[in-house]
Amino acid sequence: MPHVSVVFTDLDGTLLDHETYQPGPALPALRELLAEGVAVYFCSAKTWTEQTVIAAELDVAVGFIVENGAAVYEPDGSATVFGTPYRLVRRKLAEAAATVGARVRGYGDMPVSEVMRHTGLDADRAEYARKREYTESFIIESGDSYELGQAMAIRGLRLQRGSRFWTAQGEHDKGQAVGHVIARFGDSVESYGLGDYDNDIGMLNAVDTPMLVQLPDGSWRDLPVEDMIRLDGVGPAGWRSGADLVLRRHSR
Ligand SMILES: [Mg+2]
Repeated sequence: MPHVSVVFTDLDGTLLDHETYQPGPALPALRELLAEGVAVYFCSAKTWTEQTVIAAELDVAVGFIVENGAAVYEPDGSATVFGTPYRLVRRKLAEAAATVGARVRGYGDMPVSEVMRHTGLDADRAEYARKREYTESFIIESGDSYELGQAMAIRGLRLQRGSRFWTAQGEHDKGQAVGHVIARFGDSVESYGLGDYDNDIGMLNAVDTPMLVQLPDGSWRDLPVEDMIRLDGVGPAGWRSGADLVLRRHSR
């Protein structure tokens, strides 16, 4: 009997090269997985718009877990939402900041040019990144991040630290969204996860077979995930090895 297999993958630094944002050797591997009937879901902090643009550029039919697990979009377009609406996140963030005397500035306060300056994205991609539905990325201009986090928690918001921005979001994470997708596939599904960094921990802990690609310096990030497979290859090159492993098990 053929296996049912599903692959969840991070984008930046994993499917896509850290510097060039290109999939390189991972693209033919991704196409092969899909051709063999393996279901693939992008799973990242990126918005629906960013992820669907990437899928269209790569010409692949995949599912999307967007904005840190805020929503799952199936390949057929149906959606399950776990996140809090963006306007409500912004309002609660502003309230929390006001109570602790902090000044925050989010994507929703920034013109595209300012997002470009912070991220290095071109104008189109900065615009896609601004099309947020459930989470707000922001900088703290003044004030204490710990106090802000406390005031946000009272209002049902989580504060997360990223490399460039802080993020405000509701009570959701990538692991919960991945678990939801796996449950829909039923008991016999084999699930795989591909990631590179700390923000993939929830996703990797939710799958049967967690896999880690190498960082640009050739090392693997040390993550608290059991039975992790360390793939040879930086980013997309490691991804290619992971896809080969999935294909071998899928067709067995
Ligand atoms: Mg990554």
